[in-house]
Parts: sequence; C-alpha cells; structure tokens
Amino acid sequence: MPPVFRFAPSPNGYLHLGHALSALLNAGMAAAAGGRLLLRVEDIDATRCRPEYEAAILEDLAWLGLVWEQPVRRQSEHFAAYRGALARLEAMGLVYPSFESRADIARLVAERGMDWPQDPDGAPLYPGDARTMSGAERARRMQGGEPYALRLDMAAAVSRVGDLTWTETGQGPSGETGRIPADPAAWGDVILARKETPTSYHLAVVVDDAAQGVTHVVRGRDLFHATSVHRLLQTLLGLPQPAYHHHRLLLDADGGKLSKSTQATGLRELRQQGVTAAAIRKMTGLD
Ligand code: GLU
Repeated sequence: MPPVFRFAPSPNGYLHLGHALSALLNAGMAAAAGGRLLLRVEDIDATRCRPEYEAAILEDLAWLGLVWEQPVRRQSEHFAAYRGALARLEAMGLVYPSFESRADIARLVAERGMDWPQDPDGAPLYPGDARTMSGAERARRMQGGEPYALRLDMAAAVSRVGDLTWTETGQGPSGETGRIPADPAAWGDVILARKETPTSYHLAVVVDDAAQGVTHVVRGRDLFHATSVHRLLQTLLGLPQPAYHHHRLLLDADGGKLSKSTQATGLRELRQQGVTAAAIRKMTGLD
C-alpha cells in the first residue's frame, strides 16, 4: 500500500508562505515515497470559515503546482462520523458537559491564582468542576437550553490507555525527534464538541486521518504538542497511528508567527506582484 499524505488547511483566510511550505513539503515527501497526496478542508468553525476562502485556497495550491486526489474531504460534510466517535467516548464514560462561559473560565482561573497550570499553547487548563456535577443537574441545564462544551475526562482517559508514544521524523520545538512520549494530561480536560458543533479540531483530525487512511502527517511545529491528544484519542477509538513529521515554521520580519492577515506573505498578494511559483518555493526555504 502506498503511503498517504494530506494537507489540511482551514478556509478562514488566505494562504501565506507558511502554508505553502507545508503544502510543498507534503507534496515533495509524497512524491519521494511514491505515495498519495490528499487534501482536506478543515471547515468545522462555521463562524470563521467561508466558501470564498476555500475556492481561493484551491486556486492558490493549483497555482503552486500541487496535484491532489479527488474528492477533497470537507469536514463540514462529515458531522455524523464525528458524532459517532463522540458517542463511543461517551459510552466509555469519558465525556462530560461543562457550562462555563469564557468569562466564567477567566474569573475561575484568576481565583485559582498565578500558579494555575497552562496547556502547551499557553491557555489555562479547564478550571471548573463540571466533571462532578450530578446527572440531574446536567440534564436540567442541557434541557434548559444552556450552551455547553463536551470535555474529555483526561485523568480517566489517560488511566484507561496507559503510556503512549509516537514516531517523529521531524522535530518538536525543543528538537524532540524519534520516539516521543505523549503527554496528553498537559492539555487538561480538552473540548471534544460543543452544543452547536459535534466535534472539535482534535476529534475531527483523528477521525479524518483514519477515514482517509493517512499514514504520514506532515504539519507545522505549532501542532507538535497537540499530537499527544491525537495519540490518546486514536488509542481510545482503536484507530491506527500515522507517523508524524512536524516541520519548521516561517516567521515574519519581526520574528513572529505568520498570520493569515499579514499581507506581505500572502500567496495571493505575492502572485499579484508577479512572484512566480518557483520563487515561492525559494522564499519558503525549499531548494
Ligand atoms: N487545519 C489545521 C491548520 O490549518 C491543520 C491541522 C493538521 O494538519 O493537523 O492549522
């Protein structure tokens, strides 16, 4: 079976040089391995994703010279698959609803003091105690129409699966490579779904990588630590584990992360200025 790679952009803006690097690396590694390249549109966030961005992304990738298989998988078309995976985690007793707003969470974190732990992205771990709420209270609040998030009971999930690792052929932020011990507990009780959305990034990415038969995940180093959560969910759901390759990130002139709003590195802007696809490759540091 040929290896399967995927590039998985979110259509919440236009592509920049960092996306070009990721897409070109996936294409190059797939070609070198005699593998397949798939494209996945990660559009679960209906408030931020727009069809115009998706169309622009496909156009920019084709202009870059990327060739991918059809059909393109669109996450918004697979909510039933995510609901199914969530139901399996619920049946294991690993999911609970929490009802705090963002403001409630900020207030709780402030009350817990300066030492309250943060996840690898720097966000505070979930500080609430919804995990111990009675079933009657949960039912009353959900039936009352309150907004809620469905969270993974991380301690219970971790104790169910034990120690996990993954194979890293790229590098983490501190140079980690080879066999990496997963540390999903560092993320606390992550959100798996919300009242209006039956999935989250973490849940959708593991369901989709398995559904698409992805064997090699090549993506930016900013997602290195998230792999711990992905390995946990894969193991709980009995899904195969791909190999991971986290690649360097491109920085802007001030050393910050490239963002979709930085016009100077947008592929569309560069193309309009007459920059060629070959020059884009060079600008990403390839060749
Ligand atoms: N959709 C994610 C992004 O655009 C990538 C997710 C992944 O490659 O796992 O950052």
